[in-house]
Amino acid sequence: MSFQNQYLAEVMDKVIARNPGEPEFHQAVQEVLESLEPVIAKHPEYITCGVIDSIVEPERIIKFRVPWVDDQGKVQINRGFRIQFNSAIGPYKGGLRFHPSVYEGIIKFLGFEQIFKNALTGLPIGGGKGGSDFDPKGKSDMEVMRFCQSFMTELAKYIGADTDVPAGDIGVGGREIGYLFGQYKRLRDEFTGVLTGKGLTYGGSLARTEATGYGLCYFADAMLRDHGSSFEGKTVVISGSGNVAIYAAEKAAVLGAKVVTMSDSNGYVYDPDGIDVALVKDIKEVRRARIKEYVVARPKAEYHEGCKGVWTVKCDIALPCATQNEIDEESAKILLANGVQAVAEGANMPSTPEAIHAFQKAGILFAPAKASNAGGVATSALEMSQNSMRYSWTFEEVDAKLHDIMVNIYHNASAAAKEYGMEGNLVAGANIAGFLKVAEAMKAHGVV
Ligand code: NDP
Repeated sequence: MSFQNQYLAEVMDKVIARNPGEPEFHQAVQEVLESLEPVIAKHPEYITCGVIDSIVEPERIIKFRVPWVDDQGKVQINRGFRIQFNSAIGPYKGGLRFHPSVYEGIIKFLGFEQIFKNALTGLPIGGGKGGSDFDPKGKSDMEVMRFCQSFMTELAKYIGADTDVPAGDIGVGGREIGYLFGQYKRLRDEFTGVLTGKGLTYGGSLARTEATGYGLCYFADAMLRDHGSSFEGKTVVISGSGNVAIYAAEKAAVLGAKVVTMSDSNGYVYDPDGIDVALVKDIKEVRRARIKEYVVARPKAEYHEGCKGVWTVKCDIALPCATQNEIDEESAKILLANGVQAVAEGANMPSTPEAIHAFQKAGILFAPAKASNAGGVATSALEMSQNSMRYSWTFEEVDAKLHDIMVNIYHNASAAAKEYGMEGNLVAGANIAGFLKVAEAMKAHGVV
């Protein structure tokens, strides 16, 4: 889509020129700017005060060498990143991703999305993201520990409980957060809530592990109910078998659905009787094995090589929970031809723009990641509150707050879409509602 507003077109051109070779970042910015057309028409002051030019430029980019020694005694060098994108409404907040595909453009796209997502939670957190091209897969615990310690030795200079609070993402779970936290505490000699997703014995919040997946289902449930439907009796296809996917599968089943697939980057499993979530937890969380192990214990289930095939399985609801751009136009059309009624994004930017267009054109319910996967970061912010108070809420208390936050996000995104003449378009609604909150704060701060 091209822009009607000349100013937005110029901002987009500048983003592409200044950030060459970073298509994921361009894609994320393009989607937000497209949503802002009606906002600019109503609020031309955002042009004068420069908030749109500013919001697409990170406040700070930190890039560093991460040297570590592998089990064979060989020195390995990785790259570390932290992008502190926007602190208008609170300290930078966003995960760390350890995956070989990580480069500056991936972290920039994720950090940019995080600004709006964090604003949507209603909690005081700015946007940031970080990570490394380190691949934890196949590494021993000691190698992961040495890497995390080296990574934190540099990162510690730039973060803090009131400055920038990282968390997990792809490849960064409880084990990695533990090693990172231990090294930070040692370097700084302080016990603060500098990271979230911590273990329960040292300041973690109950329900943080479950939060993104559960929150995704709470959001999808609110969206379905608003349209006279629910999870009850529905067939659900889920991609991924990591943190988000596992807890989305668990909650979808509790809400009455049958989840029939899960995947990893090698292939997917189809279980006509419904996925056994306890078995997936054992394979992925305890044994750290591949999803194809699933069929060894469940002979009626099938394993198929190639993760894209997961979208050919007939379903009512699709929850992409693996990675960016995993649903392309072709997969979207297959889902639609098979009668999908709702797609809710658990991963960040899992649908390509062409796929989103196909879903919207077909008039099905579509929940964009910024809104529907905000439960993880929202619960991270609740972890920060508990750390500041030096107090812990019960699982039920945190889960109830998460539920309310997700239902509120749905209603706020839905209301913003309606107010700006795009009723039912939650992509636009989420972008607009998130943007307005941050833009007002930026405007109030002056030129900074
Ligand atoms: P995990 O590392 O726990 O799991 C990721 C899953 O996705 C694994 O099954 C992995 O398979 C699969 N996957 C990763 N990369 C690819 C790829 N290129 N192609 C196909 N499959 C892939 O990560 P999370 O569950 O934490 O994160 C999943 C998504 O959710 C990401 O987009 C993340 O940014 C987003 N997210 C996560 C939040 C959280 O709280 N954890 C919060 C909000 C968003 P394999 O094991 O083969 O790599």
